[in-house]
Amino acid sequence: MNILVLNCGSSSAKFAVIDSSSGEELLSGIAQRLGSPNASLDWKHAGQKHSKVLHHAEHDAALREVGELLDELGLVDKIAGVGHRVVHGGARFSGSIPITPEVIAKIRECIPLGPLHNPPNLLGIAIAQELFPTLPQVAVFDTAFHQTMPPRAYLYAVPYEWFEKYEVRRYGFHGTSHRYVSQQAVKQLGLDPDDHAIVTAHLGNGCSLAAVRDGESQDTTMGLTPLDGVVMGTRSGSIDPSIIAHMKKALGCSADQVMDALNKRSGLLGISGLSNDMRTLQEAAEQGHVRAALAIELFCYSVAKAAAKMMVSLGRVDALVFTGGIGENAVQVRARIVDLLGFAGFALDPHVNATHGRAQRGRITRTTSPMAAVIPTNEELMIALDTAESVSSAEKSTAAA
Ligand code: ADP
Repeated sequence: MNILVLNCGSSSAKFAVIDSSSGEELLSGIAQRLGSPNASLDWKHAGQKHSKVLHHAEHDAALREVGELLDELGLVDKIAGVGHRVVHGGARFSGSIPITPEVIAKIRECIPLGPLHNPPNLLGIAIAQELFPTLPQVAVFDTAFHQTMPPRAYLYAVPYEWFEKYEVRRYGFHGTSHRYVSQQAVKQLGLDPDDHAIVTAHLGNGCSLAAVRDGESQDTTMGLTPLDGVVMGTRSGSIDPSIIAHMKKALGCSADQVMDALNKRSGLLGISGLSNDMRTLQEAAEQGHVRAALAIELFCYSVAKAAAKMMVSLGRVDALVFTGGIGENAVQVRARIVDLLGFAGFALDPHVNATHGRAQRGRITRTTSPMAAVIPTNEELMIALDTAESVSSAEKSTAAA
């Protein structure tokens, strides 16, 4: 079954057409810099890359272009459903769900929790419903997978009424990725589907770790928002909350301005003063850039500490799985993290680690050590699979009625 996967951000819209049975990506692309003079549409089809300038196009015009592209490629009639990535589902959604007016209203209720992400996600849904009125549309939430966390993991030790009245709790993100890689880990690493304990480390521009026990998230590092947890590309991860009040006074600025710095000018970028990009930092560190090296060390230290925390939550660990742009590709970062986990018996196989990456997945530790492995993520495929499943069960129940 072919599924159109849409991921609408504030100034971009990623799209893909995926055959859910084979996992094949028939088309993939991104409309980016939306609203700016150099807005563009880039796509890949049949191994060929294409690009088109969309001068000042907003989401609406860009998605119309995607609709026309699907038409030109003869794909429109072959699509059975549209799967939307929705970032924040709060505690309202614990799984993927067919989009109805009630679902839209609930996603809207989550806007205060995800003010940057939910509005463009909703916009994408509205435009897709207009463009493809006959197709079933399904919402797939970043937060849903973590709804199985127990209270000890999701509660912050703040006044309880903040949780009751204001929904202050840990939600966690990257759920689609943690779910996908933990499922793949069970299959590819030969773990018991009914009895496994996996720490998944999604390390991209945004980074989070999760503790997955028997297919369910037990804990994760991101919190109320994706700012919590480990050091990221431009985000600080967890810090002493007093820093916000302190810097507000020191700089004579607003809390929003401090939050902006924590989201956009911290993390690898903040420490290195150079870049948020791991590749750039690794190259600079090799050439003696001291703060690039320091940023990488802070990153590895923070991820290793978080992995240990996730292990506490699981009580044991069958596999530590690396994924995301850094997790799949940054050989020395993986090596350093595994090294820092030496206290728990982890011992790298440097040769295997050096050859593993996006194409070559699997174990990177010695056979006598607890297992660490590389498993590439595929959030788009997971969204396509959920959407296909929702479409087939709707078809079955219609047929049975
Ligand atoms: P996003 O979270 O935006 O999807 P990605 O998962 O693509 O991001 O991860 C981006 C990060 O992966 C960047 O820091 C980038 O430098 C890093 N990365 C990608 N390829 C490599 C590589 N070959 N070596 C080291 N880091 C890499």
